[in-house]
Amino acid sequence: MSQLIDGKKISAQVKEAVKQEVATLKQQGIPVGLAVVLVGDDPASKVYVGSKKRTCEELGIHSEEYLLPASTTEEELLELVKKLNQSTTVNGILVQLPLPKQINEETILNAIDPIKDVDAFHPYNVGKIMIGDFDFLPCTPAGIMDLIASTGVDLTGKQCVVIGRSNIVGKPMAMLMLHQNGTVTICHSKTQNLKEITSKADVLIAAVGKANFVTADMVKPGAVVIDVGMNRLENGKLCGDVKYDEVQEVAGYLTPVPGGVGPMTIATLMRNTVTAAKLQHKRNQK
Ligand code: NAP
Repeated sequence: MSQLIDGKKISAQVKEAVKQEVATLKQQGIPVGLAVVLVGDDPASKVYVGSKKRTCEELGIHSEEYLLPASTTEEELLELVKKLNQSTTVNGILVQLPLPKQINEETILNAIDPIKDVDAFHPYNVGKIMIGDFDFLPCTPAGIMDLIASTGVDLTGKQCVVIGRSNIVGKPMAMLMLHQNGTVTICHSKTQNLKEITSKADVLIAAVGKANFVTADMVKPGAVVIDVGMNRLENGKLCGDVKYDEVQEVAGYLTPVPGGVGPMTIATLMRNTVTAAKLQHKRNQK
């Protein structure tokens, strides 16, 4: 039977540390603020934006919410991003993805000032992560690294396998594990003999977006298994990429869904916002 990796508990510790730091910064006259931009009315995105706003309030972070109609043009959104880049009350800018079809995501992400890019999706920050000299880490992979660290498993020399190669999860995840000396394999929809590869993994990250995709026969006994998937079933229930009931019989450590990676993503966003505020304060002192 595997040990549960409690994302709720670990994220609560991260948030508590952030809350204390926000209070200390406030005393020093350094306020911390986050702007969240949502275009359209995607229900899942609305839930994420709502919980980001609530968490800001909980931690004493000033939050600004921009809810724009689905018909918003690229020019209008660029205008808002420019305004937020200049704003003195906003240290971090998060544009909730996905964006409506008429807006090019890359154009928008590239317009965010890298020093306010708390999602770490700007090519400048992506490049810095590649080199290993970064200010921000993307929230989901960074949160996962904290979850792995909580198990006490050292990645040095370990076989680490990521299923998924998206820019926001799979690729940065692989890079972070490489920085910690893991031997990393990235799998995707064209990978052959997937099971053969995953069943050798000491650490297996599932970021596929397909409910119950990872079954017990794909998992090495004792492995650390991280389930990034957030799939909405027809009955409305949230379900991960890992077939939890059977994989928990094989894995050494396993994250639940919900209560695993999700809460860590938000906690890391808050931590990144504090980092952004400190970087901007330092820059303004020069
Ligand atoms: P994505 O952009 O759709 O990427 C999915 C990846 O899975 C792609 O690289 C795809 O390969 C690969 N894949 C699809 N079918 C496969 C198969 N049969 N075998 C092997 N690989 C396969 O998704 P994402 O944005 O990375 O997100 C992944 C999941 O994580 C989603 O459920 C998402 O909701 C969730 N998520 C959760 C959080 C959180 O905070 N908990 C944050 C972000 C994402 P190709 O590249 O070849 O198409």
